[in-house]
Amino acid sequence: MPTLAQRLESSTDFVIGVELVSTRGLLTETRAAKTQSFARDLAGYASADWVSITDNAGGNPMLSPLALGLPLKQAGRNVLIHLSCKDLNRNALESTAWLLGSEGLHNVLALSGDFAGAGVAGGSKPVFDTDSVGLLVLLGRMNAGLDVTRSPGTGTPVRLQPTQFFPGAVVNNFKLHENEQVPQLLKMERKIAAGARFIINQIGYDARKTHELLAWMSQRGHAGIPVIGNTFVLSGPAARVFHARRIPGVAISDELAALCERQAGGADKGKAFFLELAAKQVAIYRGLGYRGAYLGGVHTVADVERILQLERGFSPGDWRQFAREIRYSRSGEFFMYAEDEATGLANPAQRHPAYEASLRKRPANRNVTLSYRIAKMTHSAMFTPGKGLWKLGAGLCRRASNPAQGPALMHAVERAGKKMMFDCRDCGDCSLPDIAYLCPESQCEKNQRNGPCGGTSDGRCEHKEENECIWARAYDRLRYEGREEELLAHVPVIQDQALRGTSSWANTWLGKDHFSKKLFSKTP
Ligand code: SF4
Repeated sequence: MPTLAQRLESSTDFVIGVELVSTRGLLTETRAAKTQSFARDLAGYASADWVSITDNAGGNPMLSPLALGLPLKQAGRNVLIHLSCKDLNRNALESTAWLLGSEGLHNVLALSGDFAGAGVAGGSKPVFDTDSVGLLVLLGRMNAGLDVTRSPGTGTPVRLQPTQFFPGAVVNNFKLHENEQVPQLLKMERKIAAGARFIINQIGYDARKTHELLAWMSQRGHAGIPVIGNTFVLSGPAARVFHARRIPGVAISDELAALCERQAGGADKGKAFFLELAAKQVAIYRGLGYRGAYLGGVHTVADVERILQLERGFSPGDWRQFAREIRYSRSGEFFMYAEDEATGLANPAQRHPAYEASLRKRPANRNVTLSYRIAKMTHSAMFTPGKGLWKLGAGLCRRASNPAQGPALMHAVERAGKKMMFDCRDCGDCSLPDIAYLCPESQCEKNQRNGPCGGTSDGRCEHKEENECIWARAYDRLRYEGREEELLAHVPVIQDQALRGTSSWANTWLGKDHFSKKLFSKTP
C-alpha cells in the first residue's frame, strides 16, 4: 500500500481518513472492545486510506494510541498518530517520537492539545513545555538526524540516524472574530514553515469558510500543501455538545443546532440525515480541491461505507448545490473575502467589504493600552543592539560579581517592575516582545509562544473564559499599527527552561535567550 506521504505528495488522489478515538481502561473493557472491533474492520477496509488515532482526546487520560495503531500498522494500514504537547514535555515527546519512528509509525499529527482534564484524584497539571510548532521543529530535526552530545559538556556531538516522519498539523478556520481567525491562519503558515507537510482543518459546517481557507492558502503561496477536510458526522448528542461549546475550538450555529435537534427526534434519530450531511461535506471538499476528507464521529465501517457510497452516487456538479446548503456560519462571523454571489462561496479577488473598511480605519480598541505603548518604548530603548541602554546594560552585567547574571539589584528591579506591569513569572526567556507585551506565563493557560491554540471560544481563552486570549489582544495591538502580519514573525520559539528564575534582561544583553539569539543571527 502506498504511504500517506506518497498518496498526498506523489498523486492527485482524494484520500479518506477515519478517526479512532482511544478509550480509557484496558483493551478488554467493553468500550475498548468496540473500538478495537472497529479498528479490526478498518484494517480490512480498502476505502480508508489511513486511520487516525487520537491522543488523550479532550484532555482526558486514555489508552495509548499505540495500542490501536500498532496492530493496524502490522496489518499494512497507514496510521496517523496524534501527538500533543499537553501531557509530555519536550524530552517525553522526543522519546515517544523515537518509539513511533522505530515502530514504523511515521505519520504524526502535531498538536498543542486541549487543556489537560481531570485524572486520578483531581485535575492534572498540563505540561505545554512546547507547542505544535515546537513539536514540528523537533520532528524536523529528528528527520535531519539529531545532533546530540552523549556526555553533556564532555563528549563530541553524535548525529543520530534520521527518522522518516511525515508530520501534519491542524488549523481552525471557523473562528468568529478577525482577531482569532487571522492569527490561526498565520500560525498555520508558521507550522508549514516548521515542517508540516499536510493540514487538517477543524470541525465546521460552512462551505464558504471551507473555501476561504484554500483561497487564502493559494494567495499566500501554499497551494502545494495538501489540505484534508474535517467531516465530523453529527448526531443529536454531538450537536448538543458542540453547541454548548464543550469541545474546545468547535462551535456550531444556533440554526444548525436546531436542525440537528429536529432530525434527532426522528425514528432513526436522524442517522440517515447526518450520514447524508457528511457525504455532502465530502463532496464539497472534493469539489473545492481539498486533497481528502477526514471522517470523525463514526463508529462502524458500515457507516463509513454508507457515507462514501452516497458521495459516489452524487453527480459531479452536485457539490455546488450542497455548498449553498451547508452555510451554517454564526451571527456576526468574520469573513476574509466577499461572497461570490454566483456560487455562494468566497470571492478571493475581493476582501469582505466590512474587513476592507476596517483595515482603512484601524481605530485603537481597549487592547491598545497605555502600558503597551510604554512597554514598547522602554523595550526599544533597552534592547536595540548597540543603541540606547543596550551598551550600559551589557557593561553592567560584565562588570558585576556575577557576570553571567549582572547585579542582583538589577534583577530585583526587573522582577518588581515586570511583575507590576505584566504579572511576570520570571521565566528568564522572555516572550513579552513577541506577544505585544503580554506575558504567556501568567496570562496564557497553555503558555503558547508561537501563536494561539485552536481552542479560543469567540475570542475568549479556552480554559479561562473570563479572559480574552492573549493572541487576540496582541493581534489588536499590532493591527492598530498596521503590523498584524508581523504577529508571528518571531516564530518558532522553544522556551529555554534552564533560564527559569534568572534575569531576562541580562539574558538578552548577554545573548542567552531566544530573543537575543534571533537578534544576533540578524546582526552581520
Ligand atoms: S490564552 Fe489563547 S492561546 Fe492561551 S490557552 Fe487561552 S485560548 Fe489558548
